Amino acid sequence: MTRAYFSLGTNLGCRALYLSLGVRMMSLNEVSRTSRVYRSAPVGGVAQDDFWNLILEVDTLATPHELLARAQAAEVAAQRTREVRWGPRTLDVDIVWIDGVVCDDDELTVPHPRMYERNFVLVPLRELREDLVENDVLADADGVVSVLGTLETLL
Ligand code: AMP
Repeated sequence: MTRAYFSLGTNLGCRALYLSLGVRMMSLNEVSRTSRVYRSAPVGGVAQDDFWNLILEVDTLATPHELLARAQAAEVAAQRTREVRWGPRTLDVDIVWIDGVVCDDDELTVPHPRMYERNFVLVPLRELREDLVENDVLADADGVVSVLGTLETLL
């Protein structure tokens, strides 16, 4: 059993429903908990709506590559298209961190190579795992995020 952390983000359609779909598809019947939902400005320079982001923690028996397949299935279930890099999306699921796992191959890099750059990852991650996000790391990260509330209150 390992504990894994996923970053879920959406900025198209009913954002609370897409986050809820992502949480269900990533946790299946495994024990999980979620951070609150945060609003964040898009990165990458493409004009688009704000994102809603959360971090999901799952205690899982799946391998890292099985988790990647789960993430890709969740994005397909949300009918995600990939027209524009950094563009709007119904659901983005990234594997941010897996306890005790370091992986870097053609398909998967864990910890996620950009996790320490982004407040929309670090701020919700810190709610669940303060030890993973030191103060100086948070101070160096980019982007303004504001808390919206728990996913349940947004549905
Ligand atoms: P994206 O466009 O952000 O959804 O990137 C998806 C691609 O990133 C896929 O081809 C994955 O194989 C690759 N990838 C590498 N590391 C990770 C990770 N930690 N979490 C999710 N996708 C990853």
